[in-house]
Amino acid sequence: MFLSVRYSFTLFFILLLLSPSHIASTTPTLAHTLTQSATKIAITNRNIHSLNNAGRGTKITGISQFKRYLHRFGYLQNNNISFSDEFDAVLESALFRYQRNLGLQVTGKLDSNTVSQMITPRCGDPDTNTTPHHHNHVHKTRLTKNFVFFPGKPRWSRSMPMTLTYAFSRENMIHSLSMKEIREAFQRAFTRWASVIPVSFVEVSDFELTDIKIGFYNGEHGDGEPFDGVLGVLAHSFSPEIGRLHLDAAETWAVDFRSTTSEVAVDLESVATHEIGHLLGLSHSSVKEAVMYPSLRPRDKRADLNIDDIKGVQSLYGSNPNFRSEWSLESDMSANQGSAFVEPLRLTSSLIIIISLIHSLCSYII
Ligand SMILES: [Zn+2]
Ligand SMILES: [Zn+2]
Repeated sequence: MFLSVRYSFTLFFILLLLSPSHIASTTPTLAHTLTQSATKIAITNRNIHSLNNAGRGTKITGISQFKRYLHRFGYLQNNNISFSDEFDAVLESALFRYQRNLGLQVTGKLDSNTVSQMITPRCGDPDTNTTPHHHNHVHKTRLTKNFVFFPGKPRWSRSMPMTLTYAFSRENMIHSLSMKEIREAFQRAFTRWASVIPVSFVEVSDFELTDIKIGFYNGEHGDGEPFDGVLGVLAHSFSPEIGRLHLDAAETWAVDFRSTTSEVAVDLESVATHEIGHLLGLSHSSVKEAVMYPSLRPRDKRADLNIDDIKGVQSLYGSNPNFRSEWSLESDMSANQGSAFVEPLRLTSSLIIIISLIHSLCSYII
């Protein structure tokens, strides 16, 4: 019996050596999926379950790519990272933070939702590991704030209302879309932000002197954050007041999915709106509906600002006086107060609670 088991194992390993591609499809290892890039997890939706909900203490070939990925997006520190295939405590705590930041169920395991999230194309900016602005939790209301700033809360420091200029790099353009289509997509993206804060954006032709510089780049392009080809990382941009917005030229950028039928087409306007959020000072949000959520599936569109995006950017710049919505009471109170945003919000929340209480009391009496 023992011998036959050993024989089977030997045969198994011989097969493994002789025919790795065949074995790979039948074994629970990720041996065939060694990644080429830290920004891409080499696993398909088909074999996602081969990870079998891996958790601390397990060792599966290919775990190292998850460490590389988490390191790339800000979840593992630089020093002495081995990127071994051991699922160790460091990987587990990185996963806790990743799942929390991405609004996933916090399991500390490589469950299928987490791995699906990791294979979804995303922004190249690392996720900021600061405590999200959950200030309303303290006051026990149902409102939750998930917007995040860059460390030090940088913003454009000019006096309000301010105008920022932007320009496109002539040399670093794509030709699958017309300049008119690109320009209009960016115009719509800038207008979204301009409609909620007292900041306006004007296109200029002088690329050297403009505040915001937009270009499409391939691979390594001089800022130490090389692009990775189709999908994976789609774009990245810099915090205030650097003003650089870079898009991966290798993507199939689209402004209309009816005319761009590719399976891997990416909505330019959605990505532009997200990257402008970074230029203004917002980091990644854990709200899946927010423009500032880090990932975007091919052929998806998420360009409309969510209330989380609006609250975040208004707490940096105040509200545009013309901005009106169901949130306008709070916006009015927070206008031009920058970081003093929390206090009026607290007052408003208390008011809402009191009004709701009176309302329910009245309905009860009636
Ligand atoms: Zn981003
Ligand atoms: Zn770049």
